[in-house]
Amino acid sequence: MTDSNALLPHTDVLIVGAGITGLAHAAEAVARGLSVRIIDRDTRAVGASVRNFGHCCVTAQSGELLELATVAREGWLRHSQMAGFFSVESGGLAIARSSQEVAVLEELSQARGGSEVQLINAAQVRQELSGHGDPAIQAGALLRDDIRVDPREAVGKLAAWLARQPRVSFLWRTSYLGTDPEATEDSVSVRTSRGTLTASRVLVCVGHDLDYVHPEMAEPLAVDRCALQMALVRPAASLSIRRAVLTGTSMLRYPAFAETAAAVQLRKELAAGSPELMAIDANLMLTQRPDGTLIIGDSHHTETTVDPFLMEQTSDTLLAAATKLLGAGNFQILQRWQGIYATSPHQDFLIEALAPNVTAVSVTSGIGMTISFGLARKTFEQLETTSATTATR
Ligand SMILES: Cc1cc2nc3c(=O)[nH]c(=O)nc-3n(C[C@H](O)[C@H](O)[C@H](O)COP(=O)(O)OP(=O)(O)OC[C@H]3O[C@@H](n4cnc5c(N)ncnc54)[C@H](O)[C@@H]3O)c2cc1C
Repeated sequence: MTDSNALLPHTDVLIVGAGITGLAHAAEAVARGLSVRIIDRDTRAVGASVRNFGHCCVTAQSGELLELATVAREGWLRHSQMAGFFSVESGGLAIARSSQEVAVLEELSQARGGSEVQLINAAQVRQELSGHGDPAIQAGALLRDDIRVDPREAVGKLAAWLARQPRVSFLWRTSYLGTDPEATEDSVSVRTSRGTLTASRVLVCVGHDLDYVHPEMAEPLAVDRCALQMALVRPAASLSIRRAVLTGTSMLRYPAFAETAAAVQLRKELAAGSPELMAIDANLMLTQRPDGTLIIGDSHHTETTVDPFLMEQTSDTLLAAATKLLGAGNFQILQRWQGIYATSPHQDFLIEALAPNVTAVSVTSGIGMTISFGLARKTFEQLETTSATTATR
């Protein structure tokens, strides 16, 4: 193989993967005055980061995830300004259609305070849905800090903005193959499909494909693939839904809801009352893109090698549930797709050393859009602490 990279200059940081994890780390490196090279095996990001709801789901996180999401929120808004992509401080809307769902929202509102999680009545929920809505709606909660971006635009524009920064370069269609073992204290050699690159520090942000490049890290941490079915639809009625919309199934998934005492009973209630949603491990939710189309999802299915065939029945279940939720007539289905993210039963994200100055970073819980910029800050802070500790030895 000819080494077409041989003449490329050494950089402070080399990032593998131009999804939101890699790009948020690149943005953090830029903010710290470091030179950065980003490589990706594709010609643009087409992974999880463009296949999602574009929902930065801040308020429904708890503990460290809430801290990371709060930092990430600010990162999204700042980069949206600088890179010129759509973002909106919309907040979220959690809709309750049973007394148990209302109990979860009441408990969370009590714990967080009414300004962060504001309870609203059924009529107010309907107002949020342009006057539509399932007759079963009992109440809702406005989740103050959630924001939205358009996933199909945001990551591409962030990459384009990064590429315009003075000490940043991208190499697309370039696969990471691993690092050479003879790393020195300040240079790591990275093997790629286009030859060797060197950098002082390497961050491997390949999302759910960590096992392809570093099985020795992915397998012990049980990093697997979670596949989700999604659809883009045009509603029959004229709808303007500003907030990201969550439902009862979301209350079983996001920690701030799931940690309430009422969520235990809600799980039983949904298992009995909505077995078709529980069978596909649904998180029924939707967001509206700036062109008025709705992103609707999602189902969850964990597998190491994901079956490529979408299940029509799963799509039907989700679309029927969304149609009922909005009560605004049928949808015109424009697109269906499958998204895949990294998942693990052991941790929500990982920042793990692979070798000296080589670190894997992956979000293993389906909230990469929510925490990416916060995670990037944490990674660099952690690396700084490690370097300082090594230097004083
Ligand atoms: C359907 C769906 C809905 C979701 N909804 C939300 C949501 O609303 N809110 C939220 O917070 N999160 C959501 N998520 C999760 C979120 O999208 C992911 O956590 C996040 O996008 C992961 O980003 P990433 O950069 O790690 O991975 P990816 O976006 O998959 O990017 C990884 C990149 O690495 C590159 N790569 C892989 N291997 C190599 C290699 N060997 N060499 C070079 N490049 C390589 C790939 O080409 C890819 O561009 C959703 C996910 C899905 C699938």
